[in-house]
Amino acid sequence: MAVTTAPGSTAALYSTRLAERAQEEKFDPREIRLSEVGLCGRKQTLRALGYEGDEPDERSLSIFESGDEHEETIYHLWAEQFPRQVKRQVAVRTAYGTGHIDIWVAPLKHLVESKSTTEKSLKRLPMEHHVDQVTMYLHFWGRAHGATAEIAYRVKETGEIKSFPVEYNERRALSLIANLVEIQGAIEMTQEPLPIPADYTAFSFPCAWATGRCPFWQNCWGGAQTEVQKKKVIAKAPQLAADAQEYLKLRQRRQALEGQVAIIKVREDVLEGGFGSVLDGAQASALVAGEVLLGRSRIPGRITYDGDAILEAGVITQEAIAPFRRIGAGYDRWTPKDLTAPKKSKAG
Ligand code: SF4
Repeated sequence: MAVTTAPGSTAALYSTRLAERAQEEKFDPREIRLSEVGLCGRKQTLRALGYEGDEPDERSLSIFESGDEHEETIYHLWAEQFPRQVKRQVAVRTAYGTGHIDIWVAPLKHLVESKSTTEKSLKRLPMEHHVDQVTMYLHFWGRAHGATAEIAYRVKETGEIKSFPVEYNERRALSLIANLVEIQGAIEMTQEPLPIPADYTAFSFPCAWATGRCPFWQNCWGGAQTEVQKKKVIAKAPQLAADAQEYLKLRQRRQALEGQVAIIKVREDVLEGGFGSVLDGAQASALVAGEVLLGRSRIPGRITYDGDAILEAGVITQEAIAPFRRIGAGYDRWTPKDLTAPKKSKAG
């Protein structure tokens, strides 16, 4: 019998709901996502730089919808234990990217990442990239709150829930932050997508899997890039070879230094966390450790105003601010490439 989506049917209602969901912009596409820190960095750069990917089809939207339903179930389990003390989608904003903790059980200082799985996948749990995601939540947010963490998997076929605790691992966190720094560098400095990771292939996860593929598959494996490159007009300028070489070296040096500074800053943050705990415990403003005197002073936060929120709240209108609008001058983006570097193979 043919499957139809008759108007007025439950199936039609669900399709409408999915279509509405497709219109919702849940997350800012320009943001680096902590939830994907253990997955493809190229994907994060493509999305943030505005490259077009496939729109999710109805099947994918339905999978997202059922993921939300599993989270709802897990949330209610906790909310029934601790009414009004369990929060959802707690934002974790960092200098390297943004994440959202699914469920925060405040009385237990416990964060829960909700996932769904299949019976077939149970033996592979917890997934490494899910542990990476929770490691970032612990690093940037959980440690300061003295949190414990778990990944709660809902088994699709049976509805059972399997919990996996996640312990904070500083080494893992620092290595993941280095990935974020690399993504950030590609978005903000070179403004070029990261290359396809060497161990990825066109027909294995995370590029493709049995029932779907990454929204940027066409860009990476479909030859779309080659077409764009063909349109470029390239002038020959052998007289500038030395200058171009110097420029390339300067750019590489600057990127390496900026990457190092970011990693140093991460380590400083970790150490400051330890010093802060001692000062808090002693209610002191300085400590002496060996031959170092270390002081801490609180700098009050700056007062700022969120222009978008002001407009959204209707306090002022777009028309009212129109006379004050200024459009900045455009600029040239220079992207040096080393033509002698070995080419990255798409298939690794
Ligand atoms: S297709 Fe593969 S390499 Fe390309 S963005 Fe997606 S996951 Fe990354």
